[in-house]
Amino acid sequence: MFFLGHMSWAYVWAVIFSGKRWGNLVIPAVLMLGVLPDVDLFLWSFGVQHHTFTHSLFFWFVVSVPFLAVFRFKFIPYLVAVVQHFAFGDFLVGEVMLFWPFSSSYFGFNNVMISVFNVGLETAGLLLATGIAFFNGDLKRLFSVDRNNVLMFLPFLALVASMLFFAVDVPIIPLVAHIWMSPLFGTIVLSHMILVISLAISSIQGMRKFR
Ligand SMILES: [Zn+2]
Repeated sequence: MFFLGHMSWAYVWAVIFSGKRWGNLVIPAVLMLGVLPDVDLFLWSFGVQHHTFTHSLFFWFVVSVPFLAVFRFKFIPYLVAVVQHFAFGDFLVGEVMLFWPFSSSYFGFNNVMISVFNVGLETAGLLLATGIAFFNGDLKRLFSVDRNNVLMFLPFLALVASMLFFAVDVPIIPLVAHIWMSPLFGTIVLSHMILVISLAISSIQGMRKFR
């Protein structure tokens, strides 16, 4: 799954698991936690394979113990944002070492990234996240001149970095040609554009508070 789907579904799942009386979700944190397991992409030079221990339930439950001890129930939506990355997104689209260190087997449905299933799942996540954020007031907050929105620059950077990562794999001219030739490719690029522009607007709105 692309960062687009990981971030969108992180928000959707975090909202589902958040209690109203715990206050507003820190959305930049939810989005960043939604892509955090992919830090293993930066660890390959240390011999770490993608989709291994950073995509396991046990690893994140151990990491979460101090946070759960301090923040208790308030931390649950943030833990859910991390866990859905590999137990939902990468599990449906790729395959992950879900039960590391107890089992080194990969679990998942191994769908292709540019497939009707994945593009549909990621686009549905974006639409669902937008709809939820519209009705619960988060969308209004994210686009208002609020200093908290400065932090939206972090998910913006992460999304841009992931887009460059995939764009480098495919030379830029065939990439542009693909957009017109394949509705699937066009859809996933358009969804990325919508999210990246939204994150940029939100972080600029936050920066305006500091002028
Ligand atoms: Zn991943």
